[in-house]
Amino acid sequence: MRCHVRIGQLVSHPCARTARGRCRQCDQPTCARHRAPGGDCVVCTGDHVPPSAPASVTLDEMLSFTDVEVAAFDAPAGARTGKLRDMDS
Ligand SMILES: [Zn+2]
Ligand SMILES: [Zn+2]
Repeated sequence: MRCHVRIGQLVSHPCARTARGRCRQCDQPTCARHRAPGGDCVVCTGDHVPPSAPASVTLDEMLSFTDVEVAAFDAPAGARTGKLRDMDS
């Protein structure tokens, strides 16, 4: 069971950390980090707004990426220059 909360600045993707339980409201699996104290997920509590990234991947697709690739999905806008330039060259 993987956390469903969508994160990522460059590529929107499910968090996919091991979930600790299901949200009481939307019944989606949620990891400790995206779980509010009351047992709801942070999306339902309004504490997390899914990113409006230009691209997105599904949970199944997530499992085919390496940790390094997934880390690039989350690169903050300010830090993207070095990493993406390396991949392009
Ligand atoms: Zn929820
Ligand atoms: Zn999570």
